[in-house]
Amino acid sequence: MYKVQVVPVWSEERIFGAVMVIHDITEVRRLEQMRTEFVANVSHELRTPLTSIKGFVETLLDGAVEDKKLSHRFLTIIDEETDRLQRLIEDLLKLSHIESHRELIIQGETEVESELCRIKSLLTPVAQEKEVTLHFEIAKSLPKVPLTSDHLQQVLVNLIENGIKYNKKGGHLFLRAFSKGQEVHIEIEDTGIGIPEDSAPRIFERFYRVDKARSRDIGGTGLGLAIVKHIVEGSGGQITLSSQVGRGTTFFITFPAVKKLTVL
Ligand code: ADP
Repeated sequence: MYKVQVVPVWSEERIFGAVMVIHDITEVRRLEQMRTEFVANVSHELRTPLTSIKGFVETLLDGAVEDKKLSHRFLTIIDEETDRLQRLIEDLLKLSHIESHRELIIQGETEVESELCRIKSLLTPVAQEKEVTLHFEIAKSLPKVPLTSDHLQQVLVNLIENGIKYNKKGGHLFLRAFSKGQEVHIEIEDTGIGIPEDSAPRIFERFYRVDKARSRDIGGTGLGLAIVKHIVEGSGGQITLSSQVGRGTTFFITFPAVKKLTVL
């Protein structure tokens, strides 16, 4: 998309020519559209649980509060919807913080092995609840990666939690961490439901979900992978995926290794 501007050229109070300036505004328009869509999405995502909370509170005030069983059911829904709003706001704040403080991501160096061990013990109960088995294969003496431990944790927890959430009962999740040249590679493979080919390119977009109802039921906000991509790329790394519907998904992350200082 282009914007054409004609600028007259004056000489001694007379126009003696004109200059045509052509601005390529494709990117500006694309960013404007993305911002508008994002605001519309946020409003929709916030309004849905709020409408539900308001509806149930009004029904309780109208008399349902007298019925113990009914009021317990309504209060449980209100509690779940409030949790959902809280998760959504936390994820929105994380995303906005990462976007406005990109420089903070790389203000750190983190040991991959100890971080992965910590995350494994953190997520083992979550996996056990879904009857998913975690298998971690971590190479010895991995170099450090150039991001804070908090950011590395956000990336790994999001991806592993997804590998558990979108897995099948009795499924597996394999994590492999190794180094190659000047890079650290982390692969997270699950035996879950997989991602359709046409959805794969959109999976890192904010609020994009393959199955909205399913993601909502299992407490997803649709922001996890957008946060992951921002952090990985902010640290100078890359993230890609390969998936097969019904068989599972693998995410491939590459971080630049932190160079060791040799003392002479
Ligand atoms: P959500 O909070 O919905 O999980 P994410 O941004 O983490 O949001 O992921 C976006 C969507 O990508 C999910 O709703 C789901 O449809 C799909 N997805 C992410 N990870 C996986 C996975 N490991 N297997 C299958 N689908 C996945």
